[in-house]
Amino acid sequence: MNNPYDLIIIGAGPGGYEAAFEAARLGLHTALIEKDSLGGTCLNRGCIPTKTLIHTAGLHDEIRQASRFGISSGSPILDMQAVQRHKADTIASLQKGIAARLKAAKIDVFYGVGTLTGIETLSGPGDKAEPEQQSLHCVRITDADNSVTMLKASHILLATGSMPSVPPIPGHDLPGVMTSDELLSYGGEPFESLLIIGGGVIGVEFAGIWQAFGTKVTILEALPSLLANLDRELGQSLKLSMKKKGTDIHTGAAVQSLTRTEDGICCSYLEKEQTQTVTAQAVLVATGRRPYTQGLFAEGCAPATERGRILTDEYYETTIPGIYAIGDVIGQVQLAHAAAAQGLQAVRHIAGIPDSTAPLLIPSCVYTTPEIASVGMTLDEAKAKGIAAASHKVLSSANGKSVLTLQERGFVKVIYEEDTHTILGAQMLCARATDMISEFTEAIHHHLTLEDLAEVIHPHPSFSEMIAEAVRI
Ligand code: NAD
Repeated sequence: MNNPYDLIIIGAGPGGYEAAFEAARLGLHTALIEKDSLGGTCLNRGCIPTKTLIHTAGLHDEIRQASRFGISSGSPILDMQAVQRHKADTIASLQKGIAARLKAAKIDVFYGVGTLTGIETLSGPGDKAEPEQQSLHCVRITDADNSVTMLKASHILLATGSMPSVPPIPGHDLPGVMTSDELLSYGGEPFESLLIIGGGVIGVEFAGIWQAFGTKVTILEALPSLLANLDRELGQSLKLSMKKKGTDIHTGAAVQSLTRTEDGICCSYLEKEQTQTVTAQAVLVATGRRPYTQGLFAEGCAPATERGRILTDEYYETTIPGIYAIGDVIGQVQLAHAAAAQGLQAVRHIAGIPDSTAPLLIPSCVYTTPEIASVGMTLDEAKAKGIAAASHKVLSSANGKSVLTLQERGFVKVIYEEDTHTILGAQMLCARATDMISEFTEAIHHHLTLEDLAEVIHPHPSFSEMIAEAVRI
């Protein structure tokens, strides 16, 4: 350990560890502080464990339908403890990979709660290497045994993420009412019934998992549609597909209370001005996440915040010079890849690299069946900006790979400027949408036209042929 550092990063999720790799690559002497495990929410309680369960659920569904492909097999038997073991092995393996990369990059990792305790001003000889006065930010690390280590750095990057936000619904603290954190660790018998409050990304992904596991799933969403932040057609089509599989979905439903009864947990909600009830064995509350800053600032050391979000400028610098923040804790876009991209920009600014603030084009991906992916503008957004835009949509029903793998009906829709044909956005609901969206992200990033993309040869048969078809108008 060679204290002081050029950069101390607090939080080892994808935002924090990717920023650390970039900082080390750029020659900054870097320390990374983590209070729990490497990988943050994404690896331990978010994206990776969820997608592990989604993969198991998809496989379970395929085995159940194997006879459609000419394979006879009995009903698949789900072993939730084995599912949990696979999840734990996946996490451990990825953690090992991150630890090895951190070691190779010579990044010092400290375990404990990092707290900003203030600024120390040092006097130097006044030469180029050490200016007359240097401000160093001080960080106290308190580990699980309450031992304290003090570090100093010229720059700090806060990447402490977020935690589930549970609204004060009466009964929200009853046993059996869970957030995604608890439900991801559930290794008991599949529930007979599960009520999900919130039809956002977490709500629909968990509904897909448990529906495939044979649980009777109900979703209550306050807004008029599922996935209300995305193109309307995506939410509507997903709702139809989920209902077909047996998920009970109520949009425009205002949850009033949860009470324990003999039959389970009874939820009372208001729908079309009528009070209704639904009873389930377990309840998932998936109503959003809020920035996590617990223990992060000693008294008088916090930068400005707004409703818990740390405020930053376009370089991700907070209201305290030298302290930067990225990812869920600034609450602009709560996605792992957004945090990682913001972290790279912040680190490049710290390293003095010019032009590090290009606007980020962040794809959204939802891991339902079919998958959903979206990037750039929707047609409504383009029109609201006064752009003369049009859309072209192709269905998956004529795509060879979709038909031979018995995929559900889906679509690929491209949004483009009417006169120049410049691609402005894309929305996809189909198999492998989350893998294929990058082709549109790249096209928009490089201001490509429909014709530019149409020149690209797509393999046959492939799901990506839908992209080739969508850009030929
Ligand atoms: P979200 O904001 O996506 O959805 C929450 C939903 O709950 C909203 O639709 C909201 O209207 C509804 N809601 C709020 N209060 C309610 C109430 N009292 N009754 C009924 N409905 C209510 O939040 P989330 O699904 O909890 O996810 C949290 C964050 O994690 C999101 O920012 C999301 O982008 C991110 N995430 C991303 C992925 C992914 O990219 N695949 C997966 C999981 C989570």
